Amino acid sequence: MAKKGNRVKVTLACTECKVRNYDNMKNTKNTTEKLELNKYCSTCKKHTLHKESK
Ligand SMILES: [Zn+2]
Repeated sequence: MAKKGNRVKVTLACTECKVRNYDNMKNTKNTTEKLELNKYCSTCKKHTLHKESK
């Protein structure tokens, strides 16, 4: 049974072109730092580091 309140929606933005490419869910209980994921950016046309943004 999933508990409410720990999972929040975050937006991941490319660190190179600043385009927000991805929405993700994170568990604030398990992940206290900002999310950083290597993902494909369709604007840069390559994999770039995406960071959590508001
Ligand atoms: Zn990009």
